[in-house]
Parts: sequence; C-alpha cells; structure tokens
Amino acid sequence: MARSFYIEEDECIGCESCVGICPGVFAMDEASGKARVVNLDGGSEEEIQEAMDTCPAQCIHWDK
Ligand code: SF4
Repeated sequence: MARSFYIEEDECIGCESCVGICPGVFAMDEASGKARVVNLDGGSEEEIQEAMDTCPAQCIHWDK
C-alpha cells in the first residue's frame, strides 16, 4: 500500500495546484473551496511528493 498522507485543511488556500499535479488523488471541495484527498492510491509517491513540495501553503503531509 502507498504511504498515507493528509491535507491540513485549515491551512489550504484553495490554489488547486495539487489537483493539477495529481487529479486522481486530490479534488476541490466546492463547498469549502479547499482541496481534499479523494483517493489515497490515486497517484504515485513521486507525484504526491511533487504536490507537497509545490503546495504554497505547505499543508500536505505524509503520516508519521
Ligand atoms: S496545493 Fe496546497 S494550498 Fe493549494 S489547493 Fe492543494 S492543499 Fe490547498
């Protein structure tokens, strides 16, 4: 199983960058305007790492 990760939703600024990089994993929540994880196994670890590295709010994290 892929490594687990999460979005700190309070910190998300809704830029949609993660959705652009990993559309199989992240989606925008229309109601809150924030990103959320829709499929933990929807992308490679490299893609998820890229989404983390480029998130302007630095609010996507691997579970410890
Ligand atoms: S890249 Fe970060 S700030 Fe932008 S939508 Fe995704 S989680 Fe939110």
